[in-house]
Order: sequence, then C-alpha cells, then structure tokens
Amino acid sequence: MGSLTLQNISKSFGPVEVLKDINLEVESGEFVVFVGPSGCGKSTLLRIIAGLEDQTAGQVLIEEKPVDHLPPSKRGIAMVFQSYALYPHLTARGNMSLGLKQSGADRNRIAQQVQLAADMLSLESLLDRKPSELSGGQRQRVAIGRAIVREPTLFLFDEPLSNLDAALRVNTRIEIAKLHRTLNSTMVYVTHDQTEAMTLADKIVVLNEGRIEQVGHPLELYQRPANLFVAGFIGSPK
Ligand code: ADP
Ligand code: MG
Repeated sequence: MGSLTLQNISKSFGPVEVLKDINLEVESGEFVVFVGPSGCGKSTLLRIIAGLEDQTAGQVLIEEKPVDHLPPSKRGIAMVFQSYALYPHLTARGNMSLGLKQSGADRNRIAQQVQLAADMLSLESLLDRKPSELSGGQRQRVAIGRAIVREPTLFLFDEPLSNLDAALRVNTRIEIAKLHRTLNSTMVYVTHDQTEAMTLADKIVVLNEGRIEQVGHPLELYQRPANLFVAGFIGSPK
C-alpha cells in the first residue's frame, strides 16, 4: 500500500526550471526523506505528488496507477505542513474530524478514528481545545492527527518540525518514527536538516538545484557520498 513512482518529473515556473527530470521509486511502507538546501525544489516536488501543483512534464504513480488526473482528495494521501494550517475556530477534535466529515463518513466512524489518533499521539486531554489554546508542538500533533484519521496510504511531510524549538523537535521526531512503525504506511518527508534525515530515513534522496544528486540508505550516503555536494551536506550536521 502506498508505493510511489516518479517518472521524469520536471517543473518550470515561467522560464525557470526548478525540477529537472526526477525519477524515483518509493516502496510500500518505506520512509523516504528528501533533503537539500533551501530553494532546491523539495516543497514543489511534494506539492506535485499531492496534486497541489501540476508538473510541466512526467508522471506520478501511486500504487502503480497514474494519478495526474486526480485531485488531492482522491490520491489517498495526507499532507502535514510546516505551518500547521489548523482552522482557528474549530477545536482539535473538529480539526481532526473535518476531512472525514467532508468525505461523508458517519459519526461513529469519525469518533472512532479521532479516538485512535488521539491515543497514538497522546492528545486525549486536548481534544476540546482550540488551536489558540495549544502550544506549537501540540498544534503540530493535532495536524499529524488530522492526517492519520483519514488513513492515508501515503503521508507527505513538509518540514513538519521547523517551527518547533529544539526539545520539541526531538520529541515530535520520535513520535513520527513511532507512528511509522505503528501504521506501516509509506512516508515521504522533506527537510533541510541532516540530523532528521539521518535518523528517520530508510532512504535519503539528496536534492540540489532541482536534480537528484544521490539516493541511498543514510549510512551508504555517509560512507560513500557520490560527490562533494553530498559529502558536504550529509557530513556537516548543524
Ligand atoms: P524548497 O522547498 O526546497 O526550499 P521550493 O520547492 O519551495 O524549494 O522552491 C524551488 C524553487 O522554485 C525556488 O527557486 C522558488 O523560488 C521557486 N518557486 C516555488 N514556488 C513558486 C511559484 N509558485 N512561482 C514561482 N517560483 C516558485
Ligand atoms: Mg520548502
């Protein structure tokens, strides 16, 4: 469930080509991290996978089926952003329920799914609070909970920890790793942080100026970097 294939993906904004012939296979259940400097095209690639942006060329396949004609809601994915993008007027429970409600799920199923996600993320005591009554870390847990309740086969994370302070970053990172083990779903995770990439990934994809520099297991990249860029990027944690 949730395998992902990128075939010859290119993307231009006007005359500027920001993604150049990206090819990648992500296996079902794999935790893949896209890493690279700011502006190298990580978010654009994630948005293309999600269907929030059209590629200029190439094809996205989820579970071996082309999804380019499908809107985001029909791709079986859930996305967690750097900014939590919660609705301020809804409680944590309301935010987590909304997607299921919109897709027509019945009340029992919604309650059950929210409970399951709340258990997983230790959110039980926070379900009736609004975003303004939650800390940054708690908000991000709600945003992750909102992703879980829809039971996506594929999770997309765009720098989910970058607005959190150092201690929370570590905690939330551990939560995400735990979640991956529990759900066994495919995860595609974007970061510019080497430590996150090295600790979370089954497979790291190093991007630079819209191209893939190297794909491999964290240790493989560390021990046998394909070039100076990868060596510099992987070898120098912040
Ligand atoms: P990253 O997430 O790796 O920091 P992005 O994917 O956000 O990089 O951006 C890649 C490049 O594409 C950058 O040069 C950025 O300025 C440009 N870009 C992103 N979105 C747009 C857009 N909507 N219009 C024009 N240029 C864009
Ligand atoms: Mg980005």
